Amino acid sequence: MNAIATRLDNVHQRIHKAATKYGRPESAIQLLAVSKTRPAEDIRAALEAGQHCFGESYLQEAIEKIQQLTDTQAQWHFIGRIQSNKTKIIAEHFDWVHGLCSFKHAQRLNDQRPDNLPSLNVCLQINLSNEASKAGINPEDAAELAHSIQALPRLQLQGIMTLPAPAKTLEQQRHPFQALRKLRDTIKTNELPLDTLSMGMSNDLEAAIAEGATIVRVGTAIFGPRNIKK
Ligand SMILES: *Cc1c(COP(=O)(O)O)cnc(C)c1O
Repeated sequence: MNAIATRLDNVHQRIHKAATKYGRPESAIQLLAVSKTRPAEDIRAALEAGQHCFGESYLQEAIEKIQQLTDTQAQWHFIGRIQSNKTKIIAEHFDWVHGLCSFKHAQRLNDQRPDNLPSLNVCLQINLSNEASKAGINPEDAAELAHSIQALPRLQLQGIMTLPAPAKTLEQQRHPFQALRKLRDTIKTNELPLDTLSMGMSNDLEAAIAEGATIVRVGTAIFGPRNIKK
């Protein structure tokens, strides 16, 4: 096995162990391989090892790689910060967007989603108190925004995501993930299914799985340390 296949296997074992430990069905946890800063060949190696979904944060390099990999079945998730003047490129090239923070961006993505593509899957990014970046909406505003977005026909609101500041212990790591799960449970209704909890990365995926993560976004543990500083 090549290094990427070996690390991918290791991440699957971590997910399996955590799912077993916390009584979660493993099939309910999707692994998103965060391939930002990685060359297309690394993504190809992961695809060959059975990985299907890839997360990208930087649009220009993402589009280059997407174009180099049109012969594959890769599914593309935009996990970076959304800028108004880039929504069209996002709407045209991605299957999912995890960091939606405003109705304005939602409307633009909706209007710019090409008719020949299925609706764009989106998650609202929530800024919990200990957020690493300042991106994200306040938890109090999430329900109202979710309902407005739900009305947009070319978007499919799937759930919520968060990117907490790094924490050392499992208990500390679980804290924001638990807050996200509770928020999801309060917003979720029959009309607003909100099944997705996009949370957990290389260093805290066990804590996220313990709290109900349905998508873990893992970069370093699959592709090795990132050396390109952006
Ligand atoms: C880079 C990134 C990740 C992956 O982080 P790792 O620590 O490399 O697993 C996950 N989510 C977002 C939003 C990121 O930007």
